[in-house]
Amino acid sequence: MENPRLQQVENVREQTVDLSRLTVHVVGEKTLNTYYEKKAAKTMDPEKWYKKNHRALENEKIFLEKMVTDGILSDLKPESLCRFIQGKIETEKADVKRLRIAIRQRSPEMLNAAASRLSEFIPPWNLDEGTVNFTLDDRADFRVDGTKITADMGRLTRAKDWFETTVEGIAHESFHIWMQEGDGWSDAEQESAPLSALINHIIFRTVDEGLAVLISRQKLKEHHEKAGRNYSAYIEESFQAFRDFLHQSKREIVNEIYVEAFENMGHFYVVGNEMAKALLDTLGGNEFRALIQTARQDPAKLIERYITSTPKPKLTTEDMTFLKR
Ligand SMILES: [Zn+2]
Repeated sequence: MENPRLQQVENVREQTVDLSRLTVHVVGEKTLNTYYEKKAAKTMDPEKWYKKNHRALENEKIFLEKMVTDGILSDLKPESLCRFIQGKIETEKADVKRLRIAIRQRSPEMLNAAASRLSEFIPPWNLDEGTVNFTLDDRADFRVDGTKITADMGRLTRAKDWFETTVEGIAHESFHIWMQEGDGWSDAEQESAPLSALINHIIFRTVDEGLAVLISRQKLKEHHEKAGRNYSAYIEESFQAFRDFLHQSKREIVNEIYVEAFENMGHFYVVGNEMAKALLDTLGGNEFRALIQTARQDPAKLIERYITSTPKPKLTTEDMTFLKR
């Protein structure tokens, strides 16, 4: 457990969030077979496949050469690579089939565990309508659109612990559903929205993602270290990027920031999460829970509180004055 206070909070709270009415769908046999047939078809002509992918292969060269040294790959010929990928596809397909059964068996338990994590931090809440769709989705491991949560089973088969990853994912996305009842933003209107609305939305998302990660108990440190990053250096880098954003007034640059800062649970997730962790440690459970409710309506308040109440904040009041431009 990263944060001992979480454990402490958990033991005293009763469960007041109910996610049991979320409908769980699992991908059908036919869709599953078609998905993997299509994937495999792309590797049937090794020369053609190689031409299409040679740039990506070039970028992975050191990694691939190590696989040859380790005896995982026989050599780097196109046909060997394609045979290797076909084997991977078959394995994943079999794993997804097993996972379908496991998900069906454990879905009530999974929804209950996710609800219990939310109960620690948000007021009593029943999510009356919504779905969790376990499918094959290349876009993201978990995502939410309205009250529709989508989970990618391909990635789940590679998780260290699929059940824990699923509980974290459902808790994270359900938190967004609760939180976004307070947000009027729509990505479709990004182009036409005034700069101030875009900035406010970025603030909202930073706080929203940071809290979602904390509440669902995802581990950003582990996530980034797995990608080869030094996490404490990455935290510094993330706050620098966030300060740059707070002082930025060019629309095009803010647009770019909006795209890049949230990619792959990157900079602004880290900033949001660091602020949330520091606030929970400083304020304790009760006050922190009240602050989450305030942040739902006015997320900048959480950042201000981080600056004024936590020891050694990585932002200053001066950084925040730029928000009121
Ligand atoms: Zn999220």
